[in-house]
Amino acid sequence: MPDITSRTIVHSTCPHDCPSTCALEVEKLDSHHIGRIRGASANSYTSGVVCEKVSRYAERVHHADRLSQPLKRTGAKGSGEFAPLSWESALDEVAEQFTRAAQRLGATSVWPLYYAGTMGLVQRDGIERLRHVMRYSRQHSTICTALVDAGWMAGVGAKMGPDPREMGDADLIIVWGSNPASTQVNVMTHIAKARRERNAQFIVVDPYRTPTAKVADTHLMLKPGTDGALARLARVKEATPFFDGARLDDIVDYLTYAFVPALLLVHAQLLTPGWGGIVSAAILLSSAYGFAATDAKTDDYFFTGFPSYWNVVALYLFAAKLPPVLNSVILLGLSVLVFVRIGYVYPSRTPILRGLTIALCLAWGLMLLQIIATLPDVSARLLIVSLFFPNA
Ligand code: SF4
Repeated sequence: MPDITSRTIVHSTCPHDCPSTCALEVEKLDSHHIGRIRGASANSYTSGVVCEKVSRYAERVHHADRLSQPLKRTGAKGSGEFAPLSWESALDEVAEQFTRAAQRLGATSVWPLYYAGTMGLVQRDGIERLRHVMRYSRQHSTICTALVDAGWMAGVGAKMGPDPREMGDADLIIVWGSNPASTQVNVMTHIAKARRERNAQFIVVDPYRTPTAKVADTHLMLKPGTDGALARLARVKEATPFFDGARLDDIVDYLTYAFVPALLLVHAQLLTPGWGGIVSAAILLSSAYGFAATDAKTDDYFFTGFPSYWNVVALYLFAAKLPPVLNSVILLGLSVLVFVRIGYVYPSRTPILRGLTIALCLAWGLMLLQIIATLPDVSARLLIVSLFFPNA
């Protein structure tokens, strides 16, 4: 039993991968047990509040079923056979593997790959000390957000935003497409302050009736995909004249439809060895032309060259398991087709036979889902039948 006479409060930071990164006051019952956790009252963002799951952290930390020592797999992968080992032995094994890899192939053969996992600066970036001292490999920023980060910086030019605490001084608060009541509880504290002290109006724009939407004064429950019209009605363009949404849209599309698929094709080794650079350059440059060409779409919404659906092509090539040389030839051929003026249907917008196109597109979408669900062993018949729509 913990000795309750020695309870003290210690200060910490929430270890979750959550942008609030709450400052915590942790009740320390003795040198091995914690009690209640509260948000740090002296911190003006946390203001004494944390989400429920973290306030009851002790239940998880001290749960009888919690793994409390390292386990080493002793059977085949997936067999569930493990044997306990001491922390010293586990750390020795890891260190030995690192050392062996570095001795055999050089220090850069070890890559401490991480995103955040935890947002507190000390815990999150502590691994950089190991990397730095051992001269291991690193990635720029993180593997998860580097792309969107680059897109955001290219479109907006700076990372900026109001301090969330300023919500407490607002008369009108609009939460658009977000659910802080479930995901960022402290934001709700500052919204509640504004409503209590200033009678602020609270509007939520969301297609779902989220817990945040339930407590709003007004919930604008839009049909998915219609918030662009609302943004125009609300004159978002006039309110943020420095922000070109269309350009950001293009950047995100280019990354999604061209850059990431090209990366995937190389990474999945779907290209002939030594051709990776040429094929990806063909994809990226032809798509750059396609995205920038002012005549890329006709007035009646046909694409005028292959419309850079490289994500779909990459999926098909991954599923079809064709020889890399054939993949490379197909990709180079499609890159050329970006410049050849043939009409390609824009499924949701081309008016000619629109009903039929949308019906076929839906059937094709279902087949794609089936293809994804059965990867990597996709039925050849399904692949061939599903190609009917994109080639029709
Ligand atoms: S809201 Fe909860 S999960 Fe997020 S940082 Fe605060 S305590 Fe952690």
